[in-house]
Amino acid sequence: MKKSNFIPVSQPIFLGNEKKYLINCIDTGWISSLGKYISVFEKKFSNYCGVKYGVAVANGTVALHLLLKTLDINKNDEVIIPDLTFIATANAVSYTGAKPVMIDSDMDSWNINVDLIERYITPKTKAIIAVHLYGQPCNMKKILYIARKYNLLLIEDCAEAHGAEFDNKKIGSFGVGGCFSFYGNKVITSGEGGMIVTNNKKIFEKLLFLRDHAMSTKKRYYHSEIGFNYRMTNLQAAVGLAQLEKIDKILNLKNEIEKEYIENLADIGNIKFQKIFYDRKKICWLFSALVNENKTKNRNGLINHLLKNNIDSRPFFIPMTNLPPYYCKRKNSNALFLSKKGINLPSSINICESQIKYICKKIKNYFFVKSFY
Ligand SMILES: *Cc1c(COP(=O)(O)O)cnc(C)c1O
Repeated sequence: MKKSNFIPVSQPIFLGNEKKYLINCIDTGWISSLGKYISVFEKKFSNYCGVKYGVAVANGTVALHLLLKTLDINKNDEVIIPDLTFIATANAVSYTGAKPVMIDSDMDSWNINVDLIERYITPKTKAIIAVHLYGQPCNMKKILYIARKYNLLLIEDCAEAHGAEFDNKKIGSFGVGGCFSFYGNKVITSGEGGMIVTNNKKIFEKLLFLRDHAMSTKKRYYHSEIGFNYRMTNLQAAVGLAQLEKIDKILNLKNEIEKEYIENLADIGNIKFQKIFYDRKKICWLFSALVNENKTKNRNGLINHLLKNNIDSRPFFIPMTNLPPYYCKRKNSNALFLSKKGINLPSSINICESQIKYICKKIKNYFFVKSFY
């Protein structure tokens, strides 16, 4: 196969006004962090989430950091997070000096096991970050109950689940703030970028303040504390806004991709799909599944086999407690299990049915060397 036939895991696709809005930025000179697209993007994205306010920032990691700082999370505090997540969740907590406390996964949702959370709450615990991993919403009913019972702040990491819902309510709207990422491989992208959505006016104002070096709104160059430059540029917001205008279409296309994978892989039994819960609406970010092992076949073998056939894929994240900065002797067995078996398959919205069929055929080839397919 030629290199041009390589099927990437994810590729940003521009369906709408991206170019038009970008050219407008250049023509008008508004390329930095002032300009109309930023506030329009903030308004429309928070609206999409059913939340009052949006604060656009440079990326998803600093969205989490800025929110934690705004909530006054500091050293000596503890923040509960899932062990299985992208490292940005844990790092954002570490930047504040607080300690991330890593909790094992639930085998059905692949998210934080809500039945374990209470065991890890101490007098130092200040917040819980619910991460909606691989497009699947957490059990927000149970997490909200725990947060209220122990008076903890609830933060949502929505970087992989734009548009997902729990109890018919969009994720990002459950806690004090929801953090999103618009990195190149996320559901919608602004190149690099992120946003915090919140219903709380005080938090909204503090986020704006800290995002801009904690500068007084009354007295120019007066800074009452150490803030940050975490601003998003108008160029990024231009792309983000154009992507947001197509988010329903993008999510529908990704749904179709997921359906086709499931149809084509349902009969082989070696692949386990994400669970559908009656109380939540998952979205498809990157098609995600678990690979059953046997004596000779496993997830890493499948990744190599696909790569030989010009098909890109990704293993699941490594649990935080298995990484040097957060290494812990006590192991979270479910997180490790999922990390070892999970795979993301190509899910760009421009992938065609014949490519998905080809990928699934190669997966079957891997498990059944003499294939009928
Ligand atoms: C991508 C991601 C982030 C961070 O977003 P960036 O924009 O890359 O900084 C945070 N949390 C999770 C779960 C992510 O997948």
